[in-house]
Amino acid sequence: MTTEPQTTSHARFRRQRLNLVTLDSLRLHSMWPFKKRTVTTPKMAPAEPILYRQLDITESFDDNLGLTPDDWIPTVPLNKATSNARAMGLPSADASEEEIYEVASKLSQVRESIPIPNDGVYCPICHIANIDLAKLRTPCPKCGRVLLKFGWD
Ligand SMILES: [Zn+2]
Repeated sequence: MTTEPQTTSHARFRRQRLNLVTLDSLRLHSMWPFKKRTVTTPKMAPAEPILYRQLDITESFDDNLGLTPDDWIPTVPLNKATSNARAMGLPSADASEEEIYEVASKLSQVRESIPIPNDGVYCPICHIANIDLAKLRTPCPKCGRVLLKFGWD
């Protein structure tokens, strides 16, 4: 006696769930063309954001591990490796040292405003990096330019 109403209510519940599912899928289907139109058009409009906060990278991941503050590691300039460097906020491949340093300095200022653990320093002209953030804004050992903030990831 007690099992029967339970099964019927369960069955009704299942039927309601099914109705909900079909309603939902119907709603999805009818909304689909509108959704598609609103997503695609305005998304392309905003200007390209600055994708990089530094101009150089290291050859491989985790290159900073095992380095001491006395070690300098060679870095690779991104603008030489990227085909459309300018579109990505990088100086062009044939940019002068002054141009490169100016862009790097601006990117570093952005990076310096965000505390990122494990950040080090680099010289975007000599393409060398060091894990010691205490060297930030001190002269590069090679060219004497002020060292900028560098991320290893
Ligand atoms: Zn330098």
